[in-house]
Amino acid sequence: MSRMDENAGLLPAFMEYRLLGARYGRLIDQFRTSRQVHAYLFAGPQGIGKKTFARYLASVLLCESETKPCGVCSQCRAIYAGKHSSVIEVSPADNKVIPIDRIRELVSLSSMHSLDDRERVIIIEPTESMMPQAQNCLLKSLEDPDTNVIYFILSHDTSSLLDTVVSRCFAFKLTSWPGELLSKHLRKKYPQNDVMRAVALSGGNVGEALAILNEQHDGAQETALFELLSVKSAKDAVRCSGMLKGMAGSAEQVLFRLERYLQQCMLVKSGLLPADIMEGTPWNKTLRGASIPDLADLTDQVFKTRQRKMSYVNWQSNIDQLTCRLLEAKSEWQKS
Ligand SMILES: [Zn+2]
Repeated sequence: MSRMDENAGLLPAFMEYRLLGARYGRLIDQFRTSRQVHAYLFAGPQGIGKKTFARYLASVLLCESETKPCGVCSQCRAIYAGKHSSVIEVSPADNKVIPIDRIRELVSLSSMHSLDDRERVIIIEPTESMMPQAQNCLLKSLEDPDTNVIYFILSHDTSSLLDTVVSRCFAFKLTSWPGELLSKHLRKKYPQNDVMRAVALSGGNVGEALAILNEQHDGAQETALFELLSVKSAKDAVRCSGMLKGMAGSAEQVLFRLERYLQQCMLVKSGLLPADIMEGTPWNKTLRGASIPDLADLTDQVFKTRQRKMSYVNWQSNIDQLTCRLLEAKSEWQKS
């Protein structure tokens, strides 16, 4: 089960998509008036809500109520739980690749008419997890007008898709939610201060905001983050490096938290978040002397270190560089 599914109850499934712009409205109307095409390419960063919107459109087609989608009928509920028999969701196991055999199965399935003659929907995510061979296999099916299958192919990074696949789809780029609209809905379930921080840090990315709000309390990670932010000497820096190296898998999470913390600092410095949000955190005082370019540089460095952690390149020496850089920046700020 993915992070997003766990949050299914709160997903802005029936939020006002039309408020996101006329483009959204036009697309929804295609489905309401049965003028939808066979294949849609939804592009946008992870967490932006591609799958949720694809499910929303599927429920416009399959909902049993007068006002579609109602969000409460058995059809709508099954779709949002990812359990509807006519809405097939395909993702790679273990974040690897979608095997070509799975695509062959889908293609043969979509060439058959459904028993009840209703539309069927296939959601593939992310499409870049299909090797070119598998993408090629999907091609013909994407434009077959003889079926009532609608494809949603979702992509975080369209550069790895075959041009031939892209050109057969109606492309739609998803946008971030306006902060106010997102806050309004999140406040129904979460405390206002948490929502303000999550919305600012996520930049309107719904999945990201929910992940921040639902972040599990993890004592070891929080202690590690605290230690990192509190380095005062070269000795501290060496100790922190050693600690992170010893944390194996969860070191990445610590770096992720560090990146978010630095982003929060930048938002406070630039006035987009109130300063009192820093109270009780390690850099509450340090931040006064900090500069935005330094914070941006540090954030960038944490991001790169995380990337390298994932690709196992020079992770150890990168951690050393990062802790030293943190120490340097802090001593400069304290001078000023
Ligand atoms: Zn419904």
